[in-house]
Amino acid sequence: MFHKTRLKLTAWYLLILAIICLAFSITIYRFLSIEIDRFARVQRTRIERRFTDQLPDDVIKRFPPIDFSDPDIVSESKARIIFFLLSVNGVILLVCGSLSYFLSGITLKPIKQMVDEQDRFLSDASHELRTPLASMKTATEVALRDKNLKFSDSKKILKENLTDINRLSILSNSLLELSRFQKKANLLQTKSVKIKSLILEAVNNLKVLSKSKNIKIIHKSGNTVIDADPNKVIELLTMVIDNAVKYSPPKTTIKISTSKSRQFVHFYISDQGQGIAPKDQPFIFDRFYRSDIARSSGSSEGFGLGLSIAKEICSLHNGTISVTSEVGHGSTFDIKLPLKQKFS
Ligand code: ADP
Repeated sequence: MFHKTRLKLTAWYLLILAIICLAFSITIYRFLSIEIDRFARVQRTRIERRFTDQLPDDVIKRFPPIDFSDPDIVSESKARIIFFLLSVNGVILLVCGSLSYFLSGITLKPIKQMVDEQDRFLSDASHELRTPLASMKTATEVALRDKNLKFSDSKKILKENLTDINRLSILSNSLLELSRFQKKANLLQTKSVKIKSLILEAVNNLKVLSKSKNIKIIHKSGNTVIDADPNKVIELLTMVIDNAVKYSPPKTTIKISTSKSRQFVHFYISDQGQGIAPKDQPFIFDRFYRSDIARSSGSSEGFGLGLSIAKEICSLHNGTISVTSEVGHGSTFDIKLPLKQKFS
């Protein structure tokens, strides 16, 4: 499709160029033809006058008038002009055709990337939707076919279905949130907030989960105040800390610290977990990306959307998120947000 559109665009460019060239060529040809005719006329009159001036009147009267014009030279000159214009136009169209093909490729490249990304997103999303739906369908069908289904078994199936429904609900909320971020319309409700309160709130959200894994969360932060949407930054911190808890073995420690420069504040979230392989690090902020370790470690609740949402929240705040990690030793996420926002 991309190649066809590229050719179509090139054809349109060429058509417009051909029309312009044709108009110019016709104008030039007509102008030059008139000039050649005028030149031939003047030349003929001059020769005639010179000839008749040298002959006596009675000789002139005796002979029929001589035609001094040479229509062959005139039409040959016109033919040469046509040939020249056609050659120049041919070269122009050839050079501009290649240039148009190249430029239409550049024009269409971002559109192609967007379409490719949308296709990938759609197929990833439908793949993620299919798995829980298929498992719910199978479990329900098998239960309905079983005439001796016990009450306890049906309860167990309903419980499993509820887990899948919860997963689907998390997925649909994440997808909705990502699509809202992409529209980038009035998403932030910014105000001045203390980073300490943001960290406290995020840690509080994960109290139960970290306790269940016997993971200690230590946090230290100053009294820095930033312009931010508190709910979104809490969501961002919660996602990163939630990952730190999820991908760390029990009885480890997660450290949260901050630092401040002239324009930015950094949040550092360090864990002693499984770490992220160098080959995965460039992709973990992509939608639906999960490392092989994450997939195989039995951490089934994730969809690979958390960090892409975190990245979107950072970029909405004109900030960034990055990671340094060592497999087997742990990871440190660095969230960098500006102290002041240009918008309010
Ligand atoms: P998921 O739902 O899989 O957690 P995320 O987008 O939050 O999705 O994370 C993407 C991937 O990045 C995870 O699947 C995991 O492989 C890796 N990852 C994120 N945070 C950590 C961490 N603290 N330690 C190890 N791996 C991590």
